[in-house]
Amino acid sequence: MIDLRSDTVTRPTLAMRDAMAAAEVGDDVYGEDPTVNELEALAAGMLGMEAAVFVCSGTQSNLIALLSHCQRGDEYIVGQQAHTYKYEGGGAAVLGGIQPQPLDFRADGTLDLEQVAAAIKPDDIHFAHTRLLCLENTQAGKVLPLAYLQRAREFVDAHGLGLHLDGARAFNAAVKLGQPITAISRYFDTVSICLSKGLGAPVGSLLCGQRDLILRARRWRKVVGGGMRQAGILAAAGIVALKHHVQRLAEDHSTAHRLAEGLAGIPALGVDPSSVETNMVFCWVADADMLALQRHLKAHGILVGTGNPLRLVTHLDITAGDVDKAVAAFGDYFATRREG
Ligand SMILES: *Cc1c(COP(=O)(O)O)cnc(C)c1O
Repeated sequence: MIDLRSDTVTRPTLAMRDAMAAAEVGDDVYGEDPTVNELEALAAGMLGMEAAVFVCSGTQSNLIALLSHCQRGDEYIVGQQAHTYKYEGGGAAVLGGIQPQPLDFRADGTLDLEQVAAAIKPDDIHFAHTRLLCLENTQAGKVLPLAYLQRAREFVDAHGLGLHLDGARAFNAAVKLGQPITAISRYFDTVSICLSKGLGAPVGSLLCGQRDLILRARRWRKVVGGGMRQAGILAAAGIVALKHHVQRLAEDHSTAHRLAEGLAGIPALGVDPSSVETNMVFCWVADADMLALQRHLKAHGILVGTGNPLRLVTHLDITAGDVDKAVAAFGDYFATRREG
């Protein structure tokens, strides 16, 4: 199958499976898994942070970040469509008594800092304490400008807030900018990165940040049941991902661009190749066509997500040839539909 639903669908490479099989392990809850320790040190070093903690998912990473920055009765400001607000089951509220204050993202994936300022609650018994600003990069495939990150840092410093990045795809952003990841991470107190998306590891995320915050996060990881034992088996794949799969993200960006260019040639679809910055393509489809199109694509071995616009994501397991097959299958559908 040519699976364009998400970059989470990648299968571990042979090099990863070899590394996993050979990994030295220990009990990570005792801090004794050398491979987990190596991965955490590697990630902290790459991001220029003091420490990192390996977790099972990006959701858990964001959750323990929120629990470490905020207490019960505190509030974080976040995008209306942000993963840390909309797609994590309300975990911070459910488990931490932490209230989200969502604001609309602008078209470029940033939050308007004037709106954020207006949303900060005064010190008054009616209000939650505003503690933290959460950004997302990439946001729906868009790269936040570095100048904006700098302004956001100055903003949180002026207002006494913490700054967390949901950087599930922050490496895509860095590669797109042609910069090391530190060009992004340097502005944040904590950064969550996913190994299991475009970087191609089967499982795992890392929360990186200042030592005191990561110590607290380590405690919260245990509290939420995330203390893993011989997790070096998983961390080994993560090390391969960080060492060998960062620069190749540029290939995913170029296959995404190829896909967008191809689909833009089909008049019935709404695709703007100039809006593709990283590995995501968004494609408007007439509602009347959506189900039949998805069925047609599936019959031709192509999986796409739901939702309109359709989100199409390129990754390690998608070649330029796969993209051409996908474009041809989209084209077929609309050609036969016209005849019929
Ligand atoms: C995928 C993703 C996460 C984490 O998801 P998990 O499936 O829990 O690993 C967090 N933020 C964003 C923006 C994501 O795309």
